[in-house]
Amino acid sequence: MKAIAKRGFIDVMAALSIIIAPDSRLKGHCEPVERVDKEVRKLMDGMLDAMHKHQGIGLAAPQVGVLKRVIVIDMAREGEEPAPMRIANPEIVWTSEEEVLGEEGCLSLPQQFGDVVRPKKARVRYLDQDNQEREIEAEDMLARCILHEMDHLEGILFVDHISALKRNIILRKLTKMKKLMEAAE
Ligand code: ZN
Repeated sequence: MKAIAKRGFIDVMAALSIIIAPDSRLKGHCEPVERVDKEVRKLMDGMLDAMHKHQGIGLAAPQVGVLKRVIVIDMAREGEEPAPMRIANPEIVWTSEEEVLGEEGCLSLPQQFGDVVRPKKARVRYLDQDNQEREIEAEDMLARCILHEMDHLEGILFVDHISALKRNIILRKLTKMKKLMEAAE
């Protein structure tokens, strides 16, 4: 962690692999980017590559070990044109009172799923890849995805929204899986 911070966050790009929970690097608070420059764009593109490689629809910078307020999303389904969104410093402007329950998964919690209650709609302000301020009103899956990724920026995982019992079952499974993976390396 310290070594990565010293070299600057661009250097992790060479090996953009996704961190699997439980891992303290997924529990940190992320800092805003000063502006979206070449370095941040490179991070965004690297994150999109990693996300697409794992058939994800959203990814947050801490999942690749970078504690910056950067997320990427692509809700396009297989066979559809890619529709990547590059988002920096997202801020919630408004959320609907209406909430919906929906199933979530996460690239940092592979093959694990849980039902999470979230607002049906959310309006979010952010900086795009050209450092331009934008605001979108998202609903249903897109709103859920943005709010899930924004949680990552505060060190919150979807399992933090479900019962402690279910959370512990999932985290224990992942701990076991990681040990097996390490043993196989
Ligand atoms: Zn996630």
